[in-house]
Amino acid sequence: MKQTLKFGRIAGIPVGVHWSALVIMVLLAQSLVVGVLPASVPDLPWTVAWLLGVGGAALFLLSLFAHEAAHALVARGFGIRVERLTLWLLGGVAEFRDEPPSARADFLVAIAGPLTSFAAGVGFGTVALLVSGLDGPPAVVATAGWLAMINLVVAVFNLLPGAPLDGGRVLRAALWWWRGDRTRAALTATRTGRWLGIALLFAGLAELLVFGALSGIWLGLLGWFVLAAAIAEGVTARTRAILDDTPVRAVMRTGAVCGEPGQSVESFVPVAAGSRQRWFPLCDDAGHPTGMVGLTALVDVPATARAATTLQQVAGPATRVDAGQAVATVVLPGPTRSAVVVDDGRLVGVLSSDDIARAVEVARLHAPAGDRAR
Ligand SMILES: [Zn+2]
Repeated sequence: MKQTLKFGRIAGIPVGVHWSALVIMVLLAQSLVVGVLPASVPDLPWTVAWLLGVGGAALFLLSLFAHEAAHALVARGFGIRVERLTLWLLGGVAEFRDEPPSARADFLVAIAGPLTSFAAGVGFGTVALLVSGLDGPPAVVATAGWLAMINLVVAVFNLLPGAPLDGGRVLRAALWWWRGDRTRAALTATRTGRWLGIALLFAGLAELLVFGALSGIWLGLLGWFVLAAAIAEGVTARTRAILDDTPVRAVMRTGAVCGEPGQSVESFVPVAAGSRQRWFPLCDDAGHPTGMVGLTALVDVPATARAATTLQQVAGPATRVDAGQAVATVVLPGPTRSAVVVDDGRLVGVLSSDDIARAVEVARLHAPAGDRAR
């Protein structure tokens, strides 16, 4: 999610808001000023009402940040890298770079958010009771009470058991722990997420059309978002299932043109130009890969220097993957987006992100139609 406004970093994690978060900010402030506050304090001056309205909305956004920060900090404790925390139209998102390493980690990362919202709800509720008990200003009591209620709603809503909501993650963690199969657990959570999304969508539509309540638009949007995210996560989970079962050996390309580390660029240029590759593994006499050289690196060597430059001098490091490892565990970093495949330390093939994408597509072609549509 793109951050329109960046607030800096919390514990090294970039924190910001998408412009659409301003929409909730305005709607929430307005609902406090027009609905909640006049109901409990009818003669409140409008300046005070707006001050409390904007303050209350800001405190709510802060509690949403606390919810996401809780996910992020627990995740970091398990070594999961966190990309960024962002608030947007429908709440907050914590984006992770890694998958949770265990069912326990998955559960604790997921539950941390709703627990934080629940704690915020109890905290604001306590403030409301205290201020009320001390005969403090009723407008403050009403604002704190509203903050308590809305945080409890966030906690309960997020515990609904369907991906991408936290409850869906909890369900996934529980099934993963119970059946020992992460991918199947994720698939079940995305399936319940789809049904949940459809249910919310229809509930929103009914609220709007039958009762004429504009808040139905909100619920409908939430349902739409849950449905779309569950479908997208389902695709990812199915892809993962395929890649879990496929060894690198089955999708790598063999017969790649290789260079020798000590070979001159001049002698390699005609070979490279005559092949279909952009990246060339370098191999020593024993067949061990020593690096990877790209056409761009060859282009950058001036023609006059080609004879005196060896391939090893212009090569970069090669990512190595094992022929027997599952494709799902392969990471292809850097500009090459490809790796050398080794078996017993010797080069047996090359693997690019294109090869992986192709493997997924071919597997989908073979999947029964019903399975594809599900
Ligand atoms: Zn959450």
